[in-house]
Amino acid sequence: MTRKHEFYINGAWVPPAVPHDFQVIDPSTEEHCATISLGSAADADAAVAAAKAAFPGWSQTPPAERLAYVEKILAVYETRAEDMSRAISLEMGAPIDMARKSQTTSGTWHIQNFITAFKQMEFIRPLGPHAPNDRIALEPIGVVGLITPWNWPMNQVTLKAIPALLAGCTMVLKPSEIAPLSSLVFAEIVDAAGVPPGVFNLVNGDGVGVGTRLSTHPDVEMISFTGSTRAGIAISKAAADSLKRVCLELGGKGANLVFADADDKAVRRGVQHCFNNSGQSCNAPTRMLVERPIYDQAVEIARQVAEATKVASAHEAGNHIGPVVSQMQYDKIQGMIETGIAEGARLVAGGPGRPEHLNRGYFVRPTVFADVVPGMTIEREEIFGPVLSMIPFDTEEEAIRIANDTPYGLTNYVQSQDGARRNRLARSLRAGMVEMNGQSRGAGSPFGGVKASGRAREGGHWGIEEFLEVKAISGWAAE
Ligand code: NAD
Repeated sequence: MTRKHEFYINGAWVPPAVPHDFQVIDPSTEEHCATISLGSAADADAAVAAAKAAFPGWSQTPPAERLAYVEKILAVYETRAEDMSRAISLEMGAPIDMARKSQTTSGTWHIQNFITAFKQMEFIRPLGPHAPNDRIALEPIGVVGLITPWNWPMNQVTLKAIPALLAGCTMVLKPSEIAPLSSLVFAEIVDAAGVPPGVFNLVNGDGVGVGTRLSTHPDVEMISFTGSTRAGIAISKAAADSLKRVCLELGGKGANLVFADADDKAVRRGVQHCFNNSGQSCNAPTRMLVERPIYDQAVEIARQVAEATKVASAHEAGNHIGPVVSQMQYDKIQGMIETGIAEGARLVAGGPGRPEHLNRGYFVRPTVFADVVPGMTIEREEIFGPVLSMIPFDTEEEAIRIANDTPYGLTNYVQSQDGARRNRLARSLRAGMVEMNGQSRGAGSPFGGVKASGRAREGGHWGIEEFLEVKAISGWAAE
């Protein structure tokens, strides 16, 4: 049993101001696997004070030195990869091999990409040849609060903490209380890299406690948040009185437009992508829109893929999906599956309850609904489980209309061999990202959405710029 009661504040592990134990549950077994502390306003205040005191020094540290610290973090992160994978697998149920291959390495990937982007950034730039004595300076915004979810824990922590460090900000991280263990490893990594005290601080806690305190704290200049749209709205309101910058990465309801001329792996790929991480990805392609001539065939392929998707404990090696994160998520997903049936969608695979061979753990049956009608609850709302909704369409215009008729706008997907059509669709879909024919976005590509998916951009130089203020200067002397 891991006991991690301390917080990382001002370069030291310190106990909470008021003891408040919280049990971390292993979603594969439903058993208590670690105890952490939930912090209070006093702990958040201590961390913010440390970050505030460290800001003048860190913000004035030359960019090359900040870069060297981040390169050291990367080196230590790589040596701690196995600890990180085990922590992630235990706390949120990613199968151990998937935790190694995707969850932990998403952090490595982001740190590397930020290093590349940072090396290309100019922090004092000319305005243009028409104004030779003007300069645009990019300066760190100040103390930032980083609030992260449980589904891709290191992906999200590195997407925030690394650019904040590079930008010259000091910070307080509040990871998800459901998946805090990986962030404790991350704090150990930052400590081992020798980052000066107070620059990076970690306080565990819940949303109403530490989350709200950070969102309202007068000395926090910005909140970078990833999580639910509900919490994003609450944080925006809480942050309004102190006029913070609020950067939100929220939920999604990705549409995957599969045309009759799609490659023959497109449907299989789309279903597997939807089920990856047990469906707990904000960018999951959860609505598969299929052109009528191949619709029946696509439904049959989806059924086969769902039935061939193995569900098992996160502790088992192999290429299966694990449980969903918590009893609450399990209950929510079960309710959504029941609602899909009640509203008349055709259940093709999966359905309510656990897979037959599992009687413990938050395991969900990989589920496919066909003949989903736009407007049904399962078509509108983010389910965050391995549940796919399939919808037929007849024309490109109809597909665009269905894809865009959602409160969300994170990632949409297009499958077609027709390049002109792909490019047309890439421009027509209302989303922060469009991925086509199974090609992942490249290194340094910005991640983020529109509408209820939030409007932040993380990754690459955009991700660093989120943490910077723009200062316009005239009368600059030639150097
Ligand atoms: P959540 O909103 O419940 O919690 C996320 C974090 O916010 C946690 O650390 C939580 O303690 C904190 N929090 C909750 N309420 C708060 C409040 N009122 N004030 C301050 N902090 C608060 O979300 P979750 O269940 O952990 O994560 C799942 C959600 O995250 C899904 O909706 C998913 O789509 C979204 N998500 C979005 C992205 C993206 O980049 N767009 C990435 C991953 C997850």
